[in-house]
Amino acid sequence: MSNYVYVHDVTLGIIDELGGYDKVFLDDGLYSHYYYRDHLSSLNVPIYFSIPTSFIYNGCVRRHFPKFKEPSVYMYEYHCKNIKSNFMTWDEVRSLKKYDNFYIVPHSHYHRTILTNGRCENINDKWKRCLYKNKGFDCFDIISGFRSALVENGFEIISGKLHKRNMNDLYDFIIRDTQLMMDMFLYELDDVPHDYVFPFNHQSDFLIDILGNEFGFNNFYGKDRNEL
Ligand SMILES: [Zn+2]
Repeated sequence: MSNYVYVHDVTLGIIDELGGYDKVFLDDGLYSHYYYRDHLSSLNVPIYFSIPTSFIYNGCVRRHFPKFKEPSVYMYEYHCKNIKSNFMTWDEVRSLKKYDNFYIVPHSHYHRTILTNGRCENINDKWKRCLYKNKGFDCFDIISGFRSALVENGFEIISGKLHKRNMNDLYDFIIRDTQLMMDMFLYELDDVPHDYVFPFNHQSDFLIDILGNEFGFNNFYGKDRNEL
């Protein structure tokens, strides 16, 4: 059984605790991961910065930590107002490469969710309501929640109506998402990665086969991590 931990926001209060794990995965390229880089490096455990490439943007390195925001706030800002400042810039991600115990690993491009059917629950976050309302869809009667769009067929919203995806749609999405991510790793980081961290820890044999056979990934992380 692995002794890995999965962390979203990094704060001074949790850094010491992270030193007790074999591997630390920092989720989604948040700015706090960059801001506390020296503290994290001093832990001397492997730190995996899991990067969804569409969250990262062009900009220089920053020195000051903006006011701490709850995930519900910055997810709302990102998804509904296109504010990305809670995530790292490419210059900040690149600057992490000089640390011996840091690894920059892919975590999809879009980090997208797909709607699934069933009862109405798990959809009350403000950003989810806003995101789907912006697509002209305001009826959650048959929607139960969200899964990674790389794993579940689920439903797309097109012109305010639900459309069920088939396996070809799912395959096409996986190829498009992964190719975009690989292109950005090569262009921005001069890297062809072989490790992959599953968004939301959701995985399937179908996804693993494509990532392995068509893109050369051979190390997968997700289901065996502990959440902190
Ligand atoms: Zn994630």
